[in-house]
Amino acid sequence: MIRTYRLPCTVPRSLADTLNLESGRLYTQVLVTHWRIVRKQGHWLRPGTAEKLNDFFNPVKRWHAHTIDAAQQGFYKACTTAKAVKKLDPDAKYPHWPKRFRTTIWKHTAIKKAGLVLTLSNGKGTPSLSVRLPSHLADVLRVLEVRLVYDKRARRYTWHVVVENGKHPAEATGRNVVSVDLGEIHPAVVGDAEEATLITCRERRHEAQGHAKRLARLTQALSRTTKGSRRAKKLWRTTSRIKAQHARVIRDLEHKVSRAIVEVAVERQASIIVMGDVRDIADGVDLSKQTNQKISGWNHGKIRALITYKAAAEGITVTLQDEHYTSQTCPQCGHRHKPRGRVYTCGQCGFSGHRDVVGQVNILSAYLHGEPGKITAPATVKHRMPHNLRLMRRCRDTGQVPRACSLETDHV
Ligand SMILES: [Zn+2]
Repeated sequence: MIRTYRLPCTVPRSLADTLNLESGRLYTQVLVTHWRIVRKQGHWLRPGTAEKLNDFFNPVKRWHAHTIDAAQQGFYKACTTAKAVKKLDPDAKYPHWPKRFRTTIWKHTAIKKAGLVLTLSNGKGTPSLSVRLPSHLADVLRVLEVRLVYDKRARRYTWHVVVENGKHPAEATGRNVVSVDLGEIHPAVVGDAEEATLITCRERRHEAQGHAKRLARLTQALSRTTKGSRRAKKLWRTTSRIKAQHARVIRDLEHKVSRAIVEVAVERQASIIVMGDVRDIADGVDLSKQTNQKISGWNHGKIRALITYKAAAEGITVTLQDEHYTSQTCPQCGHRHKPRGRVYTCGQCGFSGHRDVVGQVNILSAYLHGEPGKITAPATVKHRMPHNLRLMRRCRDTGQVPRACSLETDHV
């Protein structure tokens, strides 16, 4: 399976800048040549021809030939993407802006691996770069690509290392179907008709609220400074550092929550994960300001993508299910009403249960029977924390890998 890892980059800033400036220059050159020929001769160059033309008129001696190719191919790859986007949105434009900086790419032909050290060739006469891999990447099958990416938020360079780890997707453990409801109070509920697991992660909300508070304080402090002053600059730097830190914490939590969801699916012997389709929830419906904020607090698309690839490794497929009325329908009698608070209580039959669990079982019902309210809520509800903060802190010191831990069970 192909996986991408982000690693810290220790290349001096000036050198990294030079590399990505040169990549930007090569990309821009192809772009300018392409549009010039379209303008003057009225036809599109083929990618191969464009590369040859640029190699001939602007020979670059210093780099690995395939790194140059990668920078040049960037433009035509962007064209292919634009073409696909144009089918959905006719107003989409082909790439036409020159780029000052661009991510430099080393293809597998320019990479040598010796133990934990990657050597990136920069062609004859230019010293090569080396990247140190973490120990868990010691026995990957192949390194396919290494990219020198500038992280705008953190204002520093990072390595993106693409590897083929030699593993094959596992066979699904059974034929079961589990459904997932992504909520606001709890990140997610996973389960089938017998058992539901609440993935609890208060830290996410805690982190989001703390971040909002810190940002508000900084914004206030910034409003009292003179524009362009030393104090203002310092505060801006702090702001971007805090934003980058927050983004890293959230990314980590998203990975852990999606991992926990897939682990539950494997335990329940599932071959299919059904997810509520919330793609159009943010537009169209006019929700209150607060609800809008809450919904946008979870990046559903991101979580879905993470679950999809983690599930694929376990032989599980992810499908989307329209989630209309899944949070409102009573799983016992099918009566519909809007719940308030965290507990769903039915006025018709007296059923009462966790609101997110009702959503989960109704998504399952909608998938299996075509409408919500056909399956009764699962009798067992488990709780699971995808991580343990105290353990995580300790691990940060010792470098151990934290394991997911399961909490108390049987509580409805
Ligand atoms: Zn009812």
